Amino acid sequence: MSLETIPKDLRNLRACLLCSLIKSFDQFEYDGCENCEEYLHMKKNRDAVYECTSSSFDGMIAVMTPDDSWVSKWQRISRFTRGVYALSVTGRLPPGIVRELKAKGITYRSRDVCQKV
Ligand SMILES: [Zn+2]
Repeated sequence: MSLETIPKDLRNLRACLLCSLIKSFDQFEYDGCENCEEYLHMKKNRDAVYECTSSSFDGMIAVMTPDDSWVSKWQRISRFTRGVYALSVTGRLPPGIVRELKAKGITYRSRDVCQKV
């Protein structure tokens, strides 16, 4: 199967490095991340989308009711919006953004579970 046969939307899927929400590149560029826009400012900012999302991720879970799902509690996403989330996201947020998060009282933990600590 060639890449051309995969729908455009699926091929451009990216996962947010902060909350692991999966959307297409275009969705991140148009709407930002529903959970992290306040911190990552990806709306209409292609550079930020490249820096704060990753095209390399493993596993997908669809969360419909984040409040009462044990899966979402386990994944630390119970306070996030409903959507499709990655189990593991490869990559890290740029140091400048990690510092910005820290200043706002948020400790960034990499969502890359494959990485050796
Ligand atoms: Zn996010």
